[in-house]
Amino acid sequence: MLIVMETAASQEAVKKVCALIEEMGLTAHPMPGAQRTAIGVTGNKSRVDADRIMTQPGVKEIIHVTKPYKLVSREFYPEDTVVQIGDVKVGGSEFTIMAGPCSVESREQCLTIAEAVAKAGAKILRGGAYKPRTSPYTFQGLKEEGLKILAEARDKFGLLVVTEAIDTETIDLVAHYADIIQIGARNMQNYSLLRKAGKTQKPVLLKRGMSATLEEFLMAAEYIMAEGNRKVILCERGVRTFADHTRNTLDLSAIPYVKRTSHLPIIADPSHGTGRKDKVIPLSRAAMAVGADGLIIEVHHDPANALSDGPQAITPDMFESLVTQLRELAPVMHKKC
Ligand code: PEP
Ligand code: MN
Repeated sequence: MLIVMETAASQEAVKKVCALIEEMGLTAHPMPGAQRTAIGVTGNKSRVDADRIMTQPGVKEIIHVTKPYKLVSREFYPEDTVVQIGDVKVGGSEFTIMAGPCSVESREQCLTIAEAVAKAGAKILRGGAYKPRTSPYTFQGLKEEGLKILAEARDKFGLLVVTEAIDTETIDLVAHYADIIQIGARNMQNYSLLRKAGKTQKPVLLKRGMSATLEEFLMAAEYIMAEGNRKVILCERGVRTFADHTRNTLDLSAIPYVKRTSHLPIIADPSHGTGRKDKVIPLSRAAMAVGADGLIIEVHHDPANALSDGPQAITPDMFESLVTQLRELAPVMHKKC
C-alpha cells in the first residue's frame, strides 16, 4: 500500500502517519519526492484499515499496490532512482560504464586493464576476487589479496570498484573494499546473502539469475530494499535458452519491462550475456538502444591467457572503440556517456 501525502503536508503530518502505521504493526517507508512525500507500507498480511489512515491530516490518497514487490515497484516510487556513488551516478540521464577483467589475476594484470579502461572512459572497475566457478578445480579468485589490488587500482586511476560477494561469511570483507557489491547470477536467490547485502547499506549490483523470471528478479531486489537499502542497480546478464551460438541469450526485452515496472536503474552485461567477444559491441549498442542505464563489460589485455572467461573478453582497443560508438549513440537516447 502507498499513502500519498498532500503537497503541502508538513513533516509533522508525515511523522504522525508513520507512527500510526507502526502502531498498526506495519512498516512505514517515507519517500520524499520532488512534488510530495509518499509513504510505502509493507508487512501487511491482509487488507489494512485504510479509513483510519485516510482521515489523518495531510493524507491525499491511498493506492493499493497490486504487484508482489513493493519497494522495488514504480507504483511505490514513480521517479527514476539514481544511485549516487561518489561523483558517479547510475540511472536517470546517465549511461554508466563498468569494465575490467572477469577475475583479478595479479597486480600487474589488474593495473594494466584498469589503466586502459579508465583512459577509454569507464567510471567503474569490475573484477572478481571471489569467483563462483562452475568447477571447483578452476581458478577461484585471489580473495582478499584481489580486493587489495582492486583498491590500489581505484586509488591509482580514480575509478570506483564493483566486485562480487559470494557468501555471507565474506561479504563484510568485500564491502570494506568495494564501492559496489555485486551479487552474481548464481546467488540471485540466496536470500540470506541478499538480506546481508541490504544491511551493509552499500550500493548493490544485483544480477539476474540465469533462469529467473523478471518477477523473481524483482523480488530478489525487494529483499535488499526491505533491509532499508535503496541503492540497488539491476543487471540483465543473459538467460539460458536452447540457443547454442551464444553462451546465454541476452534478454534485451527485460530492460524496457523492468524500466516500466520498477524505478531502479538497470544495466546490461553483454559479456556473460553472449559469451563471445565478437558479440559484445553490437549487443552493447542494442542495450543502450533499448534504454539500459549502463553496461558491465569484461576487458582483458591478453584474453587467450585469461584465467576465466577469456572467450568473452574484449581487448582494450575494442573497448575504446565501443565507448566511441556509445558516445555517438547516447544523444539519440538522451543519455550522457
Ligand atoms: C561475473 O561477473 O564475472 C559473473 C560471474 O557473472 P554472473 O554472475 O552474471 O555469471
Ligand atoms: Mn566473468
